[in-house]
Amino acid sequence: MTFSFTYTIPHSHSKARLGVLTTPHGTINTPAFIFCATKASIKGVDPVQMKKEKTQIILSNTYHLMLQPGGEVVENSGGLHKFMGWDGPMLTDSGGYQIFSLGHGSVSQEIKGRRQAQGEHRKSLVKITEDGAMFRSYTDGNKQLLTPERSIKIQKQLGADLIVVLDECTPYNVTKNYTRRSMEMSHRWAIRSLNEFNRITNGEQRLYGIVQGGVYQDLRNEGIDFVNSTKFFGHAIGGSLGATKEQMYEIVGYTAARLSTDRPIHLLGIGGIRDIFSGVKHGIDTFDCVHPTRLARHGGALVKGGSDTGREHINLRNSKYKLDKEPIEPGCDCSTCSSYSRSYLHHLLKAQELLALSLITVHNVRFMNRCLEAIREGIANGNLDEVEKEWVV
Ligand SMILES: [Zn+2]
Repeated sequence: MTFSFTYTIPHSHSKARLGVLTTPHGTINTPAFIFCATKASIKGVDPVQMKKEKTQIILSNTYHLMLQPGGEVVENSGGLHKFMGWDGPMLTDSGGYQIFSLGHGSVSQEIKGRRQAQGEHRKSLVKITEDGAMFRSYTDGNKQLLTPERSIKIQKQLGADLIVVLDECTPYNVTKNYTRRSMEMSHRWAIRSLNEFNRITNGEQRLYGIVQGGVYQDLRNEGIDFVNSTKFFGHAIGGSLGATKEQMYEIVGYTAARLSTDRPIHLLGIGGIRDIFSGVKHGIDTFDCVHPTRLARHGGALVKGGSDTGREHINLRNSKYKLDKEPIEPGCDCSTCSSYSRSYLHHLLKAQELLALSLITVHNVRFMNRCLEAIREGIANGNLDEVEKEWVV
């Protein structure tokens, strides 16, 4: 099996598309959600269970894995698939996202995990030059230089099916000039990434380019023209998507509408249910975010249509679940909802049992997969708006 991407747009009133993304490790029916196995592990859930909950694809982070255990160690095991026991499709990022977190320390998804940001990351400083990004390792304090070429080399050692060019993710709170200079450098890095990829590839991976340009339409146009005219397999929408949901939807819509339609489109770091529906309607094929699994580790369980407090999840730590014998979500076919009550999960959280985090993560994983299954059905049947009403708060 080699790589391909095909799609149909079953209903002309929408840009939502049904796709099949084929990799040597299997096919992904899109739209699809990609779960974050940051350090080659979905925290608390093993690949066997991930498969059982009908997960199609996971991703790991180059930045973390280059520091621990290092690309050579993973390569020695025959690549990430063998190393971590996941035989399905996989993506690695470039490390650029974490460079952004190190350098700007404010508004990225990683930074929303505030404890990590203020602990190991914020103490480190990053120096970004034309060559690459220099930073201190949080594992041993040594200086590391991540260049576009090194990112590609490490991603080859890791061996994921889909890999990504190195970029600098520019935050929201910088000037337009900074955003432009950063985008132009990211374009040069992308060409260096592509050249290195073409030099060392064994044909078992495909490379995604990243659209930059921040919140500025003219810069987005340049970013779009750049990726469309460069030989990438797929496109990821990166850079700042603005300060509000409305701005994000507008930028994603504007960008997705102008990207080559024959390549898969990934939206980086977005995983809210409402955000996914919006993205799908703009023609996005894949999404990734730490949110569903991180939320679970804080006792948050995603529920269809949201909670009675208007959020996309319920907090099982809440004492109102102490005597609640219902599963997290009646009708959910995950292995947690099949066997355990909210009362039991509430108890496990209170007792600080590790099992709580695994069981809630399993539910959230299956929830995301069910949601994307419902979205694909909605696209096929032409009733995506009705499906959205069921799932969105
Ligand atoms: Zn469930």
